[in-house]
Amino acid sequence: MKKIGVLTSGGDAPGMNAAVRAVVRKAIYHNIEVFGIYGGYAGLINGNIEELSLGSVGDIIHRGGTTLFSARCEEFKTKEGQLKGVEQLMKAGIEGMVVIGGDGSYRGANALTEHGFPCVGVPGTIDNDICGTQFTIGFDTALKTVIEAIDKIRDTATSHERTFVIEVMGRDAGDIALWSGLAGGAETIIVPEENYDMNEICSRLRKGHERGRKHSIIIVAEGVASGIELGKQIKELMNFDTRVSVLGHMQRGGSPTAFDRVLASRLGARAVELLIEGKGGRAVGIENNQIIDHDIAAILGEAHTLNMNLLRLSKELSI
Ligand code: ADP
Repeated sequence: MKKIGVLTSGGDAPGMNAAVRAVVRKAIYHNIEVFGIYGGYAGLINGNIEELSLGSVGDIIHRGGTTLFSARCEEFKTKEGQLKGVEQLMKAGIEGMVVIGGDGSYRGANALTEHGFPCVGVPGTIDNDICGTQFTIGFDTALKTVIEAIDKIRDTATSHERTFVIEVMGRDAGDIALWSGLAGGAETIIVPEENYDMNEICSRLRKGHERGRKHSIIIVAEGVASGIELGKQIKELMNFDTRVSVLGHMQRGGSPTAFDRVLASRLGARAVELLIEGKGGRAVGIENNQIIDHDIAAILGEAHTLNMNLLRLSKELSI
């Protein structure tokens, strides 16, 4: 393999830049030319491709977002769109590609591999919802952001004896809610993977109040219920001074944590190794601190599962 490409796609995540840097540096270390595809699959279809040098990925390891830009591209979901992409790659003489992104981006990478163009997926999403890896790039940084917010909200919640509902990201996966809720000492964590019971939430709030708790923090993943609606219901049912904070896109930004930078560096470098070994159609991940890889199509067939032991633990610790 003499020329490879790299793109970032779907929702951006802190640490994507560190992954791009690792791909570029590792490839050049092995005398392979690297081309950046700008703007995800939309950029690929349009041939928005430029060679990347060692220097072009300098000074980005600490930056959030993605310097290769990202996009959502409906056309790439069609065979015609995918073949246009393959044509652009052939024209540029690129023989393999590293795709950094989430589940949707993996589907694109799998489609390209099925068209005979080898791709390796690198899990980049704050949601931590990709199979074949314990952690995705960006999750740790998003947690850090949420924890900072919870800690600040806790200060004001305690001062005013308020109940706070904090809505965090997670349409289908409750990982951000669960981990941040556990780390932030939330009384209640509401995730898409488990039905929630308003009576139980109220009874917990009541018990806490009776034993003198000065504040209550409820974390809800956006995919389950709107924080604003939930706050209204709690206020009506409990008559507690209830406020709502919807954290929104701030969770996607910021400088990646050391964990995300190291993870991104290891995963990006391994993806290049796989292409060198002639192993396309793989997705890299981390399991028990070992870098592993799986068949990308197999991963797409699996459903992400939440760590229910952690959810149980959070309930035990927030009595
Ligand atoms: P993420 O990668 O973060 O999950 P999306 O689901 O938006 O984000 O996917 C990113 C892009 O991947 C889409 O805009 C589309 O171009 C491509 N993609 C998604 N699903 C498919 C699919 N089934 N086949 C081919 N490409 C896809």
